[in-house]
Amino acid sequence: MTTEGGGPGSKAATHDHRARLRRAAERGRHAGYAAVVVSPSPDLFYLTGYDAPVLERLTALVLRDGKDPVLIVPELEAPRAAASGADSLTELVPWRDGDDPIETLRSILSEGRIAVTERMWASQLLSLQRALSSSTFEPASSVLADLRARKDPAEVQLLRKAARGADQSFSLITAEGFRGRMEGQVARSLAEHLQECGHDSVAFTSVGSGPNGASPHHLPEDRTIRAGDAVVMDFGGRVGGYCSDITRTVSVGEPRGEVAEVHAIVHEAQEAAFGAAGPGVPGEEVDRAARRVIEGAGYGHAFIHRTGHGIGLEEHEEPYLVEGNHRPLEPGNCFSIEPGIYLAGRFGVRIEDIVTLTEDGAVRLNHAPRERMVVG
Ligand code: ZN
Ligand code: ZN
Repeated sequence: MTTEGGGPGSKAATHDHRARLRRAAERGRHAGYAAVVVSPSPDLFYLTGYDAPVLERLTALVLRDGKDPVLIVPELEAPRAAASGADSLTELVPWRDGDDPIETLRSILSEGRIAVTERMWASQLLSLQRALSSSTFEPASSVLADLRARKDPAEVQLLRKAARGADQSFSLITAEGFRGRMEGQVARSLAEHLQECGHDSVAFTSVGSGPNGASPHHLPEDRTIRAGDAVVMDFGGRVGGYCSDITRTVSVGEPRGEVAEVHAIVHEAQEAAFGAAGPGVPGEEVDRAARRVIEGAGYGHAFIHRTGHGIGLEEHEEPYLVEGNHRPLEPGNCFSIEPGIYLAGRFGVRIEDIVTLTEDGAVRLNHAPRERMVVG
């Protein structure tokens, strides 16, 4: 699931931001960009540790080859930027209300190809395009997405910690019993467990029981969970800025209809995708591995989304496990594997783990039981 808004959370002081800034500037130069311009976003947090608020006032990090990084900030935000440590990594250039920050930005850029982060506000980019009318603007993901997708050991460690907290939360929620509770109550309980289990913040808790489970990102409501229901729970939050994201489907008492059969198919698909994942394997091959199992069982029409997404400072980021992604996966990539089957009006089943790639292959970060669990 994706949630927008709110920063990545706590400051991740252990990361080597100086090296990240250097690598990003080098990659920008290799790609032929005159500059890389980074707005408040997970990209900015990744590069500097500054969790800048997303405001209408311009904040922009500028990376140019052979020059020190510059961070243009509204003067009233400068103390927070400095407190994050960004002042030791960049030259802070504050601007005051009434100044023209686009002019400040223009004055340090030269015309040419300029990479800008996708999260830059259209109003700011349109002004910049007018100010630099001979320049072309391209998405900075070509420079930054790969860097962020190859996690270093400290990042994997935070993702592992987040996954462990999600596993523990699942264990706590299944011990509570579901029958007679409303989806919203279970969702609130899950949120409390995530925080008890080491999360700094909760991002989402989706609980879909019975027919509601057929909507993959169902928002919990006041449906009372009954015996025989399958319940899809997809939940996550952040630890040290890094995300957890897990889905499990449980049966409340003995299941109705083909829930057990469908669960077994999704489980097999999840294992097949995990078995297919490894360095050098294109993202789409992992998707195909899961899809083959589900299509083979006659449920291809009911697997309505890609098999997985990268995860890190964002719940959804590169690399995506989807048809059409020919790019080989690399060591350090961290992503979800989450096949599902959704039968409208009846029930849904999804099983999702976060996986990391090492030189030797794929390693699961989630260990909560994937077998169908019968709960009270
Ligand atoms: Zn999820
Ligand atoms: Zn996911």
